[in-house]
Amino acid sequence: MTSVPSLSQLSEETLKKLPRPGNDFDIHEGKLLAPILRTRIPGTPGSIAVLNHFNDFFKQTLPDWTVEFQNSSARTPISGNKEVPFVNFIASRDPPWASKGDVGRLTLVAHYDSKYEPKGFIGAIDSAAPCAMIMHAMRSIDAALTRKWDDMQAKGDGLDSGLDAHTGIQVLFLDGEEAFKTWTDSDSLYGSRSLAETWDETTHSAMSIFRTPLSSISLFMLLDLLGSKDPTIQSYFPTTHWAYQNLASLEGRLRNLKQFKSSPNYDIKSGHVDEPQWLVDAEKSEHLLKSWTAIQDDHVPFMRRGVDVLHIIDTPGRANFPTVWHTIHDDGEHLDLPTVEDWSMLITAFAAEWMELEGYFDAQDAAEKMYIRKTEL
Ligand SMILES: [Zn+2]
Repeated sequence: MTSVPSLSQLSEETLKKLPRPGNDFDIHEGKLLAPILRTRIPGTPGSIAVLNHFNDFFKQTLPDWTVEFQNSSARTPISGNKEVPFVNFIASRDPPWASKGDVGRLTLVAHYDSKYEPKGFIGAIDSAAPCAMIMHAMRSIDAALTRKWDDMQAKGDGLDSGLDAHTGIQVLFLDGEEAFKTWTDSDSLYGSRSLAETWDETTHSAMSIFRTPLSSISLFMLLDLLGSKDPTIQSYFPTTHWAYQNLASLEGRLRNLKQFKSSPNYDIKSGHVDEPQWLVDAEKSEHLLKSWTAIQDDHVPFMRRGVDVLHIIDTPGRANFPTVWHTIHDDGEHLDLPTVEDWSMLITAFAAEWMELEGYFDAQDAAEKMYIRKTEL
């Protein structure tokens, strides 16, 4: 690979010991995924149950995170005069010393609503599995994040300066992505349109580094239609091609380390089978990207307002969506679970590298680091 601007890389040792999801993506009993594999049409009990699942997960497993809900309502082509409620779920974690308006956040995004039709539609790749992948990734980096920020505080200096002191992370699970009838500008993206508008109009206090919550998004990383085997992931935007290439580099490294369960090389003792990468545009120059701007998705209202977007969406043959897309077959049974797990590991690695967590995954390593620093003082 040609030179890719990169943050300090995760070591091979760290890549190999990143936490795995275990049974949590089991489609019937898995703690993370199973509760999302149900119909969750906006404003219905299924939608509320899934929101509660997200809320419980963050409250119980990630208590250092701040959880918010952003509400809106709109008429839809099937609701007549009735307003349908849309609820976006937002969870964030910032460095403990930083004030809200001074933090730029890596922003991981997926929609959690399911389509109104066909009746009983689950939407496993669209986007129950991407939500679960993000949950696993955030749980996997949380303790390392705590250690790193404790370490920075113990060190005591540099908390006001430097990009690292102002880097946070947030998760958006958006409502109302799907059209109720047929996709139009008004019948789609209900949640993301409302959130982008609200965040554009909210201003931080006057002396803040970032003017609005919208400008606090350092990268809008949108995951959609993930969980089918052998995905094709293209790079769409020159401005974020460097981030795409960082993700591709991690994919290659995890494959070389035989960490990808969906790969023929997984855990084999010797030899190596050639395999294609999911991120197919890694070697391309950013000038040669063919932007397929026709893909309408939750990034659009944000991108129109100048937010940097990395769109991770499966387009087999570079021109289609996965075969189960928007059919009754997009359910738990049609997921390729090794692929779901690999995605969750890749997203974990990407977030860990973004947050510069090398050296903080192992409690012992981190403690030694702090001890050395203290004895040096
Ligand atoms: Zn969809």
